[in-house]
Amino acid sequence: MTDCSLAEAERRDRADSVGHARARFDLPEGLIYLDGNSLGALPRHTAATVLNVIAAQWGQSLITSWNRHAWIGLPQRLGARIAPLIGADPGEVIVADTTSANLFKLIAAVLGARPDRHVVLSETGNFPTDLYMAQGVIAMRGDCSLKTVAGSELIAAIDEHVAVVLLTHVHYKSGRVYDMAAITAAAHAKGALVIWDLSHSTGAVAVDLNGCDADLAVGCCYKYLNGGPGAPAFLYVARRLQPELNSPMSGWMGHAAPFAFEDGYRPAPGIDRFLCGTPSVLAMAGLEAGLATFDDVDRDALFAKGRALGDYCIELMDGRCAGRGFTVVSPRDGSVRGSHVSYSHAQSWPLCRALIARGVIGDFRAPDTLRLGFAPLYTRFVDVWRAVDAVRDIIDSGTWDNPAYHASATVT
Ligand SMILES: *Cc1c(COP(=O)(O)O)cnc(C)c1O
Repeated sequence: MTDCSLAEAERRDRADSVGHARARFDLPEGLIYLDGNSLGALPRHTAATVLNVIAAQWGQSLITSWNRHAWIGLPQRLGARIAPLIGADPGEVIVADTTSANLFKLIAAVLGARPDRHVVLSETGNFPTDLYMAQGVIAMRGDCSLKTVAGSELIAAIDEHVAVVLLTHVHYKSGRVYDMAAITAAAHAKGALVIWDLSHSTGAVAVDLNGCDADLAVGCCYKYLNGGPGAPAFLYVARRLQPELNSPMSGWMGHAAPFAFEDGYRPAPGIDRFLCGTPSVLAMAGLEAGLATFDDVDRDALFAKGRALGDYCIELMDGRCAGRGFTVVSPRDGSVRGSHVSYSHAQSWPLCRALIARGVIGDFRAPDTLRLGFAPLYTRFVDVWRAVDAVRDIIDSGTWDNPAYHASATVT
């Protein structure tokens, strides 16, 4: 039986070996933020870092900053900082564009390199933009199709027609984690490649792309990487595949010699060919500050804490919110769960709004999922305890049933 006391939560925080990292963030006093899986918290150094790029670099050095302050190398430099979080080498990861645009680039690149194969295979209920981008590439080509199957049928559906398997490593709703090594091996056995969307993984769970012999990946930098709203995304291409894959967005920054101003496109060698246009320097400065929040933090301890926070949430919900209509939709087994826990409940939407009104920020995913995210760099065990306590009180007091909490919102 879990000890459901607040004192136990405080004891766990005292024993937390990565708890010091919370001081790197500027979180509002008293707020319980359980949505770092959707928008990471603001690091303390972000404002000063971005302001320095604006005032000192842009303001004083103007265009010479591209060389003097090495702005031009930001996509590679930030990619190299993300690489160790996902088991990749520097030179295999680059920061550019959005996750959606990067999906487009990689799906089109694989279909272009595998003319004998015409199927993109994905999971029914994958994150929408993954499916939408695949649909967009397919509409442009005219000779390919998207096939979606339930996750449990995925490996059996990989055949000699499949060019690429497109999967999200940690499912955005349920938090279920795919076995990257097993699926990659199954795809390779049938001659297919795999694109992993690491948006809900990077910075929260262990990922070992090279250890799994992975091919391709994309990921989001405004979630657990704390890069700021709309931060540029990253993409990974295994070194062995770089020479044979070409970006369909053949912009000048992906050219072998952008400042030679040639008429004809020649792809850059290596990962640089997946750049398109000019890097967003201010946004990248924010991302650089976000990535610095991982400096000197033991990664194994960090990922173990993410799992422990999720386990603790489930134990407290079992212990304190039983009989109140909640069904956990995330795996109970922390080894196959990402760093968020989701519950289905008939009143998830008004409950989520009532929690926010009380200073406990989680989120809602249609049709009935309450999602609680645990960014292990700054979420404390007491935050989980107080969130579960608030859920229990809002249900028991009937506070959720206030017309204001039933109203709709544009962003959930
Ligand atoms: C958040 C998220 C994205 C974000 O895509 P953008 O193009 O950056 O808006 C993509 N895929 C998954 C699985 C996500 O969770």
